[in-house]
Amino acid sequence: MKEQQLIWEWTAANEVRQRTTERSQLQAGQVEIAISSIGICGTDLHILSGEAGFSNPPLPLGHELAGIVTQVGEHAGDWKVGDRVCIDPLIGCGRCPACRAGNKHHCPQGGEIGLHYAGGWQQYLIVPADNIYLVPDSVTLDEASQAETIHCCLGAVDKLHIRLGMAATVVGDGPTGLYFVQLLKAAGASPVTLIGMQSSRLALGEQLGADVIVNLSEPDGQSMPAADTQSIVIEAAGEETALRTAISLLGKGGQLLLFGLPAVPVAVDIQSIVMKELRLLGSTNDPHVWPRVLQMIESGAVRVEPLITQRYHFGELDEALSFVRNNPQQAIKVIVNLDQ
Ligand SMILES: [Zn+2]
Ligand SMILES: [Zn+2]
Repeated sequence: MKEQQLIWEWTAANEVRQRTTERSQLQAGQVEIAISSIGICGTDLHILSGEAGFSNPPLPLGHELAGIVTQVGEHAGDWKVGDRVCIDPLIGCGRCPACRAGNKHHCPQGGEIGLHYAGGWQQYLIVPADNIYLVPDSVTLDEASQAETIHCCLGAVDKLHIRLGMAATVVGDGPTGLYFVQLLKAAGASPVTLIGMQSSRLALGEQLGADVIVNLSEPDGQSMPAADTQSIVIEAAGEETALRTAISLLGKGGQLLLFGLPAVPVAVDIQSIVMKELRLLGSTNDPHVWPRVLQMIESGAVRVEPLITQRYHFGELDEALSFVRNNPQQAIKVIVNLDQ
């Protein structure tokens, strides 16, 4: 008889169920990971609502993942049982020109574990051996689960031309906004301004290095940077008003990094973009930056632990999701843990 495992599945709009399934068989080139840490992400809530259009239920979600290698298939490199790893969820076809150039994030057939394919809401997950990275000893698996989010942010920051002392603003105080603040500081931008709506997140942003914080939910005209002054603005809120703020803050020749995903098409002030000669950059994943992300977590250049506000056990994954949905003020990053 095959071994059994517990999984959580997205079963219908805003509904998840726990059930027992058979553990899958390992193929050549794959490794099996006992999942230890799962980050709950805004994208999970978006998929759960049924509005994302990535995939259909039933499906285990979960794409911010770290765990321990439990089985190594043939031709799966030199991975060893017991290795502590984090998982790059992105899977390309491996054959197209983009994949062959190392750019699987541009693969027309590409997809992600936990978005398009079964994700890590399972005790054991089988992934291609090329999709895991060894976690340094001093980095916890909870921290390592966040390498996925940080890798998206670092890939985005890599697209900017940053020089020491360039004024930069992040619009959006979610986990990605808080990582962007840290990366911009590490890159030498100054001052770094964080604009958001939640006082607790903004306070954390300040603790993590933001030179200026602006709370839009309070009358805070003082600290908002003047229009036309920023060299770089990162839009990490995915809101039309945030985009409008971003465009107005940028000075001539400024760089606008579009990272947030608005739920609907938004109106954009093209005239300002043309007249200020702004450079627009979009960004999603970047498979090249994982080793540097782990190095930056290890060195402390990017701090993860202060963002982790709650931890739940795997058996309470449904409660973790409702907590994140209903408590945006308290929940910055919620982690679900499995005993290994
Ligand atoms: Zn995510
Ligand atoms: Zn491909």
